[in-house]
Amino acid sequence: MPKRKDMKKVLIVIAVALASSRTLAQTPKLNIKTRHGLPMEEQRKEQMERLARQYDLKKFTITRDIMIERGAMNHSYPLLTLNLRFLDNDDLALSAYAHEQGHWVLMERHRADNPALFQDLQRAFPNMEIQVLQGDGELRSSYFHIAVCMLEWQAMEDLVGPERARKVIEWKQGDHYKSIYSTVLGRREQVEAVLNRYGVKW
Ligand SMILES: [Zn+2]
Repeated sequence: MPKRKDMKKVLIVIAVALASSRTLAQTPKLNIKTRHGLPMEEQRKEQMERLARQYDLKKFTITRDIMIERGAMNHSYPLLTLNLRFLDNDDLALSAYAHEQGHWVLMERHRADNPALFQDLQRAFPNMEIQVLQGDGELRSSYFHIAVCMLEWQAMEDLVGPERARKVIEWKQGDHYKSIYSTVLGRREQVEAVLNRYGVKW
């Protein structure tokens, strides 16, 4: 029988090992700034920092530089910018983060694939409506958004599980990019088949 003291030592070693392996898997340090330093911008920043601790966003963090800006449209480039929407809804806030990071996946890793990827998506889903609310108003970027929204859904499944992830994507389908989210929800296999051809993934 090991002595009580030795057992305690063993348990401490195990605890330290577990803690450090958890640290390794965690979200890299995010550099989050607020545009105007407004209290609600600070709140959104704190929400993102909390989510980055609560969830392992490592895989879903291509750029670590984040701006919080009241009244901005969420966008990815040149600086990933998030507005104050979804302060009261962590799942939607997480999905906004994953969505904008999804744009970075295409920009950082698939710049050379993009022309062919666009053609493939257009061929697979011809005549998708692209006017605002259905798409984003622009042909090419509406088609790229099929890839981005698929990445967003995959990220959410990984982070919060399939049920909550589907809820988020269905909510978004009713809110904006309706045709794009409908395509992703209704024809997931075809979307993933196109993305797989180019190795588009997290
Ligand atoms: Zn987008």
